[in-house]
Formats: sequence, structure tokens, C-alpha cells
Amino acid sequence: MTIVVTGGAGFLGHHLVKLLLDKGKSVVVMDSLWTGSQENIAEFASNPNFRHILCDVREPLPDVEDLEQIYHLACPASPDDFERAPIEILETCFLGTRNVLELATVRRARVLLASTSEIYGDPEVSVLPESYRGNVNSFGPRSCYDEGKRTLEALAFSYRLKNNVETRIARIFNAYGPYMAAKDGRAVPNFIGAAMDGQPVKIYGDGSATRCFQYATDCVEGLYALMNSDYDKPVNIGSDLEMAVSDIANKVTRVVAEKLGQKAPVAVQYLPKRVDDPTRRKPDITLAGEVLGWSPKVSLDDGIAQTVDWFLEKHGNPKSLM
Ligand code: NAD
Repeated sequence: MTIVVTGGAGFLGHHLVKLLLDKGKSVVVMDSLWTGSQENIAEFASNPNFRHILCDVREPLPDVEDLEQIYHLACPASPDDFERAPIEILETCFLGTRNVLELATVRRARVLLASTSEIYGDPEVSVLPESYRGNVNSFGPRSCYDEGKRTLEALAFSYRLKNNVETRIARIFNAYGPYMAAKDGRAVPNFIGAAMDGQPVKIYGDGSATRCFQYATDCVEGLYALMNSDYDKPVNIGSDLEMAVSDIANKVTRVVAEKLGQKAPVAVQYLPKRVDDPTRRKPDITLAGEVLGWSPKVSLDDGIAQTVDWFLEKHGNPKSLM
């Protein structure tokens, strides 16, 4: 049995591939290294159960024998990328997902698609159950990603209807942890990088927007449980510990200050809010508990400490982050 992980050289991809190899599975990563890196998969290279095919999912995918499951993670996920490459992101969401579902049709493989909390847009409700249909701006700087991922879900439904493809949909909420790219623009690596370099951390907006951060290993265990469950409708995978972004920044800067022996945590600099950036985001994870027996386990304190340790070890010279 072979499992394909598209986007396996990315942040979540690394943790998922590790989990699968640790379970003795045979894994083929398909990744163009657009936002991922060879470094993220270097430790798997000597494992005979591991193979990396350098390819872009926007092109038809290479055939894989004995293919049983495909985790489709390939897609940039940072707001900076939404500005840099919106057309390529839309192509990746539509053409990439279609190519994955075509391969699954031929090989009769089950597919797990990485969807996102962003499909809910800027929500009008405080806690997000899977039944909430969202408040998305189709014409704005985030729409390439938000609408792209909504298209991914629609493709899943359509391929199930027309081709009987077995699909699983994970609506992933903010994840963080080791193996995030230092410069990809997402909050936690941004905060750690700035704090390590003694620079003010930048927050878009007044800091009162909320997020719930889940640790990477929790997230990929949720993906694994969903893939191997019988549940075939969308499931939220996230933490329900809601915090203001400024509180998360303060937590990160305190940990970095302690570990580096800085006299005080670095300051926070507030920048104009990004257009359409959601003001609240908290998942209802009741369904994941009921159908998968899954809930996040790693505390924010432990997760932040482990992530900061990893960044310090990887980027010994803080200047290399900037
Ligand atoms: P990431 O950028 O670290 O990883 C994405 C990987 O996909 C990279 O290795 C990149 O090179 C590869 N990739 C991108 N476009 C590709 C293409 N066209 N062809 C081949 N490879 C391509 O991002 P991540 O945080 O690991 O996210 C993984 C998936 O999870 C994404 O689909 C993302 O939308 C989804 N997701 C992530 C989060 C999160 O908080 N990390 C939240 C919601 C959803």
C-alpha cells in the first residue's frame, strides 16, 4: 500500500510524512518545493519507504502503483503568498485538486483534501460549526485562497458524485510548530523571528482579533484519523483555545526573551489591519471528537516552547531570519 502526500515538503507535510513513515507506511511525496523545502524532507531520504517526486500538481500527476490513499496538502497557505501569487494559488486549488481527484479515480484511491477555516471567511458567528456556510468576499485580496479552497470542496463533492471517489475534507484551523518557513509571513514564525532578532513584532490590526492555534503534531493526527474514518463530510480540525493575537505575540516574545536571556521582551508594533482578515476565528470541534475521537493534546505553552527551541536550533544566527 502506497500513500501519496502532495505538499509533503511543507510544514504540515513534514509532520504528516513523519507520522506515516513511523507507522511503517510507504510514502510518495509530490511537491514542487514552491513554499516547502528539501530540508523539510531531508531526514526521510534514507528511508526505503520514502520517495519524493518533484512535480507541480497543476500538471497531470505521475501514476503511482499500489496507490491507496492521497493526502492533498499542496498549496501555499500564507497571506503573503495570497498577495504574491494569487493566480498560481487559484490554479493550484482548482487544477491541482482536479489532478489529484483524476489520479484517485484511476487508482480507486481515497483522498483527504486540506481545506481551511478560511472557507468561513470573516464569520458572523462566534464559534464555527461545520454547518456554518461562511461570509466570504469573492472579490478581494484573500479570495484566491478562500474561494480556491471552497472550489476544492466543491470538486470533492463533484468527483464523489460523478466518479465515486472516496473523499475526506479537513477544515484546518491555524497550525504552528517546527518546520514552518521562517519567512513565509504567518504569525507565529513572524513573531519568533522578530523577537529573536530583537526587533518589534508586527501585528496587523489592533491585536484584538482572535485565533486558536493548534500544534502541528495534533493537527496531522487529526488528518490521519479523518482519512481512516468512515466520515465523508467536512470536519473542523483545530484548537478551540481562543486568544487575542496580541496575547499570543506577548507569549511568544516572553518565551524568546527567557531563552535568549534578553532583559525584556521586544515591543509590539501595530500596523493597519489587512483587508478581509477575520476578526474572530474559533472552531466548534465537537464533530471531530464524536466521529474521530480526536481533540488537540499539546498545550500552547509546550507547543510555543518547542517551536521556539526548534527555531533557535535551526537559525543559530537570528539575523538569518530577517
Ligand atoms: P506550506 O506552504 O508549508 O506547505 C505547502 C506545500 O505544498 C509546500 O511544500 C509547497 O512547496 C507545496 N506546493 C504548493 N503549491 C504546489 C504546487 N502547485 N505543486 C506542488 N507542490 C506545491 O503550508 P502548510 O502550512 O504545510 O499547509 C499545508 C496545507 O494545509 C495547505 O493546503 C493549506 O492550505 C492547508 N492549511 C494549513 C493551515 C495551517 O495553519 N498551516 C491552515 C489551514 C489549511
